[in-house]
Amino acid sequence: MSRPRILVVGGGVIGVSCAYALAKAGAHVHLLERDAIGSGASGGNAGTVAVGHPPLNRRGRLRQVLLSLLDEGSPLYIPPRWDPSLWRWLRDFVRYCTDEHVEESMKVMAPLGKNALQTFDDIIEEEGIDCEYIRSGYYKVCETAPGLEAARNQAIAIEAYGYHPEYIGLDELRRREPELSSDLQGGIHYPESRSLDPLKFLKALTERAKLRGALISEGVRALGLSIISGRVVGLRTNEGEVGADAVVLATGPFSADILGEVGIQLPLQPGKGYHRDYATGPGGAPQIKLPCELSEASVFCTPMGNFVRFAGTMEFSGFNREMPTPRLDQLSNAARRCFPAFGGDGIKSEWCGLRPMASDGMPIIGSIGDINGLSIATGHGMLGLTLGPITGQMIAREILDPDAPKLRKLSPDRFRDPH
Ligand SMILES: Cc1cc2nc3c(=O)[nH]c(=O)nc-3n(C[C@H](O)[C@H](O)[C@H](O)COP(=O)(O)OP(=O)(O)OC[C@H]3O[C@@H](n4cnc5c(N)ncnc54)[C@H](O)[C@@H]3O)c2cc1C
Repeated sequence: MSRPRILVVGGGVIGVSCAYALAKAGAHVHLLERDAIGSGASGGNAGTVAVGHPPLNRRGRLRQVLLSLLDEGSPLYIPPRWDPSLWRWLRDFVRYCTDEHVEESMKVMAPLGKNALQTFDDIIEEEGIDCEYIRSGYYKVCETAPGLEAARNQAIAIEAYGYHPEYIGLDELRRREPELSSDLQGGIHYPESRSLDPLKFLKALTERAKLRGALISEGVRALGLSIISGRVVGLRTNEGEVGADAVVLATGPFSADILGEVGIQLPLQPGKGYHRDYATGPGGAPQIKLPCELSEASVFCTPMGNFVRFAGTMEFSGFNREMPTPRLDQLSNAARRCFPAFGGDGIKSEWCGLRPMASDGMPIIGSIGDINGLSIATGHGMLGLTLGPITGQMIAREILDPDAPKLRKLSPDRFRDPH
């Protein structure tokens, strides 16, 4: 193809990363976003580039899933409701909760994580992006002895894949982060991870993609694919037809309508999470140098310049963006337990976002077997920021170099032909 015309749908970190990588490689790129850049999960997440971790599907999850049907205060919450697609998804999710699956995914995700880190460092340096980038890792801090033991076991497992988590006793943890409570048990330092302000990063990457020639259209909704003789020739949008040689769907959890029309169903559910930002200072957020993950509560506390973001929890309540106060309070309550001086003053923002959750806990990246010119980039779950830039590179390579090897384990075709 000479200077192929490529349409990217979705202005989250995945779509923008694809647009950036494609434009950098010389393609003629047009990104369509129905709302504004960063209006989905990518604008308000916890901002950690966290690598080397096992997928959400793990042995013992079934029990947690069942308990979560009853407990609104649990970090993982599934309000009971009649939704056949959710129940099918949960059935598939639980089937993947085996040690074998964890091992198989780690074999793919652990090396991918290393590439992801390198890609982040390279983009931030090469493009001179200012986004509160911290390269010294994060702490997983534990409130209970069983929590600490589970965290240590997980760290040992991660070590086997070439990462370097370090166990830290409470005294050392508090020497490094003096605002942490003396009631904690200890923690783990994950030195390889990074953190940043995700919206600052996304906006800067959008500008860099534009500088490389990408056209970015906000407020334009893709309605469906235009396909002739098994090949994608463009998109139908609310502003009319747009022609293209290839289309990349990076629509987060919102791909069912467009794909359903061409007979493709991906096992995706929206996994809602929340954030509350507090200004740093007396009575407000603690002064922390590195992000702290409050392990039992599943809450990340990430310093982003003059504020700290408390973000996390996972809720399967469908496509809604309601923000019940008790769910947001879970974030602040966990923070108060772990940072006794945190007064709760100075709320800067409250937010929720829908993670694109694939039933096997792995992202869905690549072309679809029987429709030429269609690629998918979604299902990144809790790792969309982490894997955004590397996903962009993978998609650009696959579209622009037909001989490039495919990562079959991440291909959308794995759900249609599991063997
Ligand atoms: C509370 C919370 C904390 C998180 N913390 C982290 C973290 O620390 N690290 C990490 O790596 N990940 C984290 N994540 C996950 C991460 O935010 C997501 O995986 C990632 O944002 C997904 O990006 P995306 O581009 O696929 O989706 P989105 O950001 O949702 O973008 C999809 C975009 O597509 C647009 N769109 C949809 N349909 C159409 C259409 N038909 N036409 C045009 N546009 C359309 C939407 O408007 C949206 O802007 C967190 C998520 C949450 C909720």
